[in-house]
Amino acid sequence: MEKKNKLRTLTEPFKIKMVEPLKVTTEEYREEALKEAGYNPFLLRSKDVFIDFLTDSGTGAMSDQQWSGIMMGDESYAGSRSWEHLEAVVMDLTGMPYVLPTHQGRAAERILYSILGGTGKVFISNTHFDTTRANIEYTGSTAIDILCEEGSDNQADLRFKGNIHLDKLKELIAQNGKENIAAVIMTVTNNSSGGQPVSMENIKETRKICDANGILLVMDACRIAENSYFIRHRESGYEHHSYKQIAQEILSYADAFVMSSKKDGLVNMGGLLTLRDEALSIKCKNMLIISEGFTTYGGLSGRDMEALAIGLQEVFDDDYLHYRIRSTAYLGEHLRAKGIPVVWPIGGHAVYVDAKQLYKNIPIHQYPGQALVCDLYIKGGIRCVEVGSVMFGKYDEKGALIPAANELVRLAIPRRVYTQSHIDFVLDIFDDILELKDRSTGYEITYEPPFLRHFTAKLKPIV
Ligand SMILES: *Cc1c(COP(=O)(O)O)cnc(C)c1O
Repeated sequence: MEKKNKLRTLTEPFKIKMVEPLKVTTEEYREEALKEAGYNPFLLRSKDVFIDFLTDSGTGAMSDQQWSGIMMGDESYAGSRSWEHLEAVVMDLTGMPYVLPTHQGRAAERILYSILGGTGKVFISNTHFDTTRANIEYTGSTAIDILCEEGSDNQADLRFKGNIHLDKLKELIAQNGKENIAAVIMTVTNNSSGGQPVSMENIKETRKICDANGILLVMDACRIAENSYFIRHRESGYEHHSYKQIAQEILSYADAFVMSSKKDGLVNMGGLLTLRDEALSIKCKNMLIISEGFTTYGGLSGRDMEALAIGLQEVFDDDYLHYRIRSTAYLGEHLRAKGIPVVWPIGGHAVYVDAKQLYKNIPIHQYPGQALVCDLYIKGGIRCVEVGSVMFGKYDEKGALIPAANELVRLAIPRRVYTQSHIDFVLDIFDDILELKDRSTGYEITYEPPFLRHFTAKLKPIV
């Protein structure tokens, strides 16, 4: 099925009922806008962006059903109908009896990890997402990533490069003592590792290791529907399962589920925490009430919960998921066919371009990834983000750059927002990039804050 559709026209399984105009700007206009933004796309105004690939988080389009749900939202403080709807949908998906709504994923993380964490505790994951790591480290705990070996080769054509390293997991448990492991966290799909999927096999083996050691297994599964797609098409034994059945099986191996609903919840804001254990759920509910809201709304309004209840069902639709995963792959495969180096295979929610390979004339300390980000904006009004030494670089004592492991540029695809013609437009802009790549200039940083510098740093081209 996957093979047959390679490089073919994609037909979106929806038609458009409401439109949001995009402003068409000139290259001169965009050069000025980018200069004003300090050559940092985070500082651009969205009205100056034509195709926004900055993130897939909270940027999706809701359906007519979800918008009708918004009108039906019950805003009662306690026991609202919309809460009952959401709770029923989430219990059915997770098989877990305790459901806590939060305003977004990191709020669920703060609640759970502040209770499980603390000084001396260790969390182990295939790859911690950055807010996950931050919430864990904030409690004084340590977060250790153990991605499978295949995962770090960004060209190997393998099926499940998001997996956890099972032997290292056993070693780490033995080294640290099982009583000090607060939880194992499976990030599904593996966001910080290219949106690569995790196999059911790997999840089952992880469960066995957790069982043998009495350790809690948490699914950080905001892209669980996308991961289920990969399992059905790449792992034997799942060809005839529905996507929802696969998701239910994944969650059956977990003790807790943390979700940023801004991804596969198909809503613009929201999060979830669900638990199997009553005692832990009581502690979490107390924290929820202190910091988010009463247990039947958490951080959400009734209408938000209604839209999420509907989104969590729509996301498992066969036609939707096929379109979603194939449209991301469509961009990646066409880029590769043009000779643009991309991380391979293409993950679920984003395409990553290897800027070190593409912009060979720009040395690492002049940030080739940032140069590509800036060129894509100037040429096509396309906004994306550097995932390289601007984001992760550090300095040695002499102030020289210690580069990141890779110089990538991420094109994250919002859900149900862009059509194939938008994607084809992006592909055309990459022809311009191929044409100018040897003349493109590097950048230097002129301002940077002490933490998370990529959000607010300012740069300038080296001429
Ligand atoms: C987005 C994300 C989060 C954090 O969720 P927010 O809703 O942005 O707070 C946590 N884990 C993963 C894997 C994510 O992709």
